[in-house]
Amino acid sequence: MADQKLTPMQIYKLLPQTNCKKCGMTCMAFATRLALREVELKECTPLFEEDQYIDQRNQLTELITPLLAAEETGVALDETKCTGCGNCVVVCPVDATVEPDTASGKAARSEDTVFRVENGIAKIINLEKCRRFPPERMNCRVCEQGCYVKAIEIW
Ligand code: SF4
Ligand code: SF4
Ligand code: SF4
Repeated sequence: MADQKLTPMQIYKLLPQTNCKKCGMTCMAFATRLALREVELKECTPLFEEDQYIDQRNQLTELITPLLAAEETGVALDETKCTGCGNCVVVCPVDATVEPDTASGKAARSEDTVFRVENGIAKIINLEKCRRFPPERMNCRVCEQGCYVKAIEIW
């Protein structure tokens, strides 16, 4: 998770590519700085204000959100160590709020939990909902402590 990167070219391909400079630079410079997290996607205002860019905005948001969440929370899941026990889904307070049944061991059905076990392997699907993510920034480590095979680490 944490070592995933987005390249400037991946970002540039989804920007409006008009070089309007409303962000104060060219599209390529913006893509380069966004890859380095020196600017935020919302600073490209045409992307958010013009309907013609809705698909590109959604694609960029989907690409960037998990990476930002991994950086902000420090939560990483090593799927090769996971036994699929489901304990992370049970103990995560966010998942218990989204789907109260998970606290009693039932499988998560919604798409809104932080963790989800699919085909016997846990996956992180909404890390931006983690309590370590802004604005909460809580020092929660419940999932790390609840994973007995140390598949979850928080750095
Ligand atoms: S505001 Fe967006 S479209 Fe305009 S130059 Fe910057 S990145 Fe390109
Ligand atoms: S608690 Fe650990 S081993 Fe169990 S499903 Fe979650 S990540 Fe996998
Ligand atoms: S750190 Fe806490 S809130 Fe975040 S995923 Fe783990 S258990 Fe859930």
